[in-house]
Amino acid sequence: MPVRQKLRRRRRTKILATIGPASSTAEMLTRLFQIGTDVFRLNFSHGTHEDHAERIRIIREIEARFEHPIGILADVQGPKLRVGQFRAGRVHLQSGQTFRLDLDPTPGSATRVALPHPEIIAAAGIGTTLLLDDGKLRLRVTRKRADHLETEVLVGGPLSDRKGVNVPEVVLPIPALTEKDREDLAFALAQGVDYIGLSFVQRPEDVVEAKRLIEGRAWVMTKMEKPQALEHLEEIVRLSDAVMVARGDLGVELPPEEVPLAQKRIVRMARQNGKPVVVATQMLESMIAAPAPTRAEASDVATAVFDGADAVMLSAETAAGQYPAEAVNIMDRIVARVEQDPGWRAIMAASRPEPEHSSPDAIAAAARQVAETIGARAIAAFTASGATALRVARERPQCPALGLTPELGTARKLAVAWGVHAVVTPEVTSLTDTIRRASEIARQEGFAADGDEIVVTAGIPFGRAGTTNALQVAHVGKTS
Ligand code: PGA
Ligand code: MN
Repeated sequence: MPVRQKLRRRRRTKILATIGPASSTAEMLTRLFQIGTDVFRLNFSHGTHEDHAERIRIIREIEARFEHPIGILADVQGPKLRVGQFRAGRVHLQSGQTFRLDLDPTPGSATRVALPHPEIIAAAGIGTTLLLDDGKLRLRVTRKRADHLETEVLVGGPLSDRKGVNVPEVVLPIPALTEKDREDLAFALAQGVDYIGLSFVQRPEDVVEAKRLIEGRAWVMTKMEKPQALEHLEEIVRLSDAVMVARGDLGVELPPEEVPLAQKRIVRMARQNGKPVVVATQMLESMIAAPAPTRAEASDVATAVFDGADAVMLSAETAAGQYPAEAVNIMDRIVARVEQDPGWRAIMAASRPEPEHSSPDAIAAAARQVAETIGARAIAAFTASGATALRVARERPQCPALGLTPELGTARKLAVAWGVHAVVTPEVTSLTDTIRRASEIARQEGFAADGDEIVVTAGIPFGRAGTTNALQVAHVGKTS
């Protein structure tokens, strides 16, 4: 019989790791999970459905083996504009040279590449700026024909297959979900992923449209990466189940000095609304090729933790870098270290939003207060949909939260949420049962020992969603 290996994170802020060629074997995925990955992100901009299906299968095996719910985020590409591929996989563009972007799908060279988006070619004009590879390269259109753009390379550099193209000056009439996204969405939902990452959302209606297609089969994580979306931040956050500060594209489309403020604004709005928020992109970028981060990168991760983000994310570091395990390990260490700092604790307390006027919110706020007053080891929240656990997380309590749910899908979704350790357990049927179960799980999962106190929240009558209205202090080890 396999020995059950208990896994308990030593931090509240969660870690998302993107999977790619550097991290697709069962061995590496197991390692990344054990070291600290709470949620795996599948990037549908890369890889085949077959690749993704295999990775999902492995993750679900790891989850079963460790009996620890793992979240899976399927990040659909959205109307991300990309160049095609190159004959040699990569070229180097020299500043000052001319470079052609055309509709010819054959592999590119140092003088041309496919830009398979007729709408950009149509919408661009002489003088339009095109930004490539997260803005690292800059081209200016010098000539325009029906099927291609001739450009001057203003800022050169290496350019490889399928790098992104941003056109900040031109409004492109493109839908929020492309044909490819709809196919990827259907595939991802059939695979039972937990979150759908929505890219390049510009308007609240984009989220509404995606939710209409998803029909509650996964939670929607809206990626904030367009300046237009920031203008509707509150509405977008309210419509979404979670949000991501997608600093890669956001930082291309906004001037760099705006990005830190946008990050803080998005995190604050998400926390206010009790929606999980992920800070993403370039967090440990130099670790793609080095075994240790720069000190500035360590500070960037720390800043996201101080902002009170639910999670921090690794992209190319784990998907394509040379040191995927080191990147997760260092992120885990930075987060855990910040969370030992009394200053961080004080900031979490000072930035706590007021409870909203509902009984689940009042109970969550009271649970946090009671837990802190008596020094409880955990707040155990019974939650069917996950909503109550998110209300507890919104309080950013000092002790961990146990999200106890009969739904495996809920437990997986809660993997993103700040400070929530989710456990699948059958529905409770009475207050006695509730208290006993919470105490047992707190002990089994290593959160409390005999004699410790925990705070338990539940909904009465039992078995009805959205009724959280009860709070009790339980003594672990005492049968009630
Ligand atoms: P991407 O999204 O990695 O899919 O581009 C994240 C970002 O833009 O920051
Ligand atoms: Mn992006």
